[in-house]
Amino acid sequence: MRVPLLDLTEQNRLLRPEIEAALGRVLDTNAFILGGEVKALEDELAAYCGTKYAIGCASGSDALLLALMALDVKAGDEVITTPYSFFATVSAITRLGATPVFVDIDPLTYNLDVSQIESKITERTKAIQPVHLYGQCADMAELRKVVAKHGIPLVEDAAQAIGAEENGVRAGAMSEIGCFSFYPSKNLGGMGDGGFMTTDDDELAERLFALRVHGSKERYYHKWVGLNSRLDGFQGAVLRVKLPYLDSWSNKRKANADRYRELFTDAGLTEQVGLPYERENVRHIYNQFVVRVPGKRDELRAFLTEVGIGTDIYYPVSLHLQECFEYVGYKEGDLPESEKASRETLALPIYPELRPEQLEYVVDTIARFYEQTS
Ligand SMILES: *Cc1c(COP(=O)(O)O)cnc(C)c1O
Repeated sequence: MRVPLLDLTEQNRLLRPEIEAALGRVLDTNAFILGGEVKALEDELAAYCGTKYAIGCASGSDALLLALMALDVKAGDEVITTPYSFFATVSAITRLGATPVFVDIDPLTYNLDVSQIESKITERTKAIQPVHLYGQCADMAELRKVVAKHGIPLVEDAAQAIGAEENGVRAGAMSEIGCFSFYPSKNLGGMGDGGFMTTDDDELAERLFALRVHGSKERYYHKWVGLNSRLDGFQGAVLRVKLPYLDSWSNKRKANADRYRELFTDAGLTEQVGLPYERENVRHIYNQFVVRVPGKRDELRAFLTEVGIGTDIYYPVSLHLQECFEYVGYKEGDLPESEKASRETLALPIYPELRPEQLEYVVDTIARFYEQTS
């Protein structure tokens, strides 16, 4: 049996007639960049996230960059964030000449340890950028209490968390600006690159709509210097087909996660395989199902690869130790929980179309690994 980490074949097969019709609509109107499909998608996304605005752009990475640009983050400013995330979380900060200030993660959730934030706030702190890693919101209720005292805006990196909730509020609706990605492996994936931002603030929305088209509100008149970062008409059309299915897909991921929990518990493996921790009062959308494997992560991964089970490591190098960020001045040992996570985490297949016997095979194989190595 083969169990890939992610397989979109079945989803594509089921949606193919709808997708082809949607692509045909774009071909008929020649609206290849932004246009009617993207506008309609933006309205649907704003309704989905519970925000006043949703603004499409070319990628999740650009969404983060545009968000920080809209907040006027620039050289000399500091942005507090997590070292345990995808690269773009931090490159958005450094590309603007600002300095990332890292706060270590909570070892249970892998998200920012909010209790460590206040001591890192200085008069140069321009924004705080939590990441909702793997599809579970960072502790936004606590974080909002911290920033309320200081008046610092929050930017959510919600690239992995569309539809995730804390106390019934959706990701993207808990901060000044939420940033999302349509990278094909996300819960709502396009057929290429894409992303969007959410906000409730009229002025920030005005900036974001302009910044994605070179900072112009009226063509050829530039109020700001922006980017070329627009969502394609084809992506808009495909994503509009997929959005109505998103909740059923995320619910299936959650059901798979629950099944993993049951199977790992029944197999007596919860010591060896640290299961994801779900906070109370949240909706976790399980973009990834990440377990913690102290000591034997790489050995287990090789064993699984050998028998056709796909895995990945999110992320093997904590961002403060990336070569390109050496100049920021962090060194090994500065953020111990993040560094430990980078040695211990392993993502297992969790996608919605996974069959029950595939999931059981993953757990059986891991059980076999521990029988052989213990
Ligand atoms: C995917 C992802 C991004 C970047 O999104 P792209 O669309 O690939 O540019 C940013 N942050 C996190 C946490 C992500 O998972």
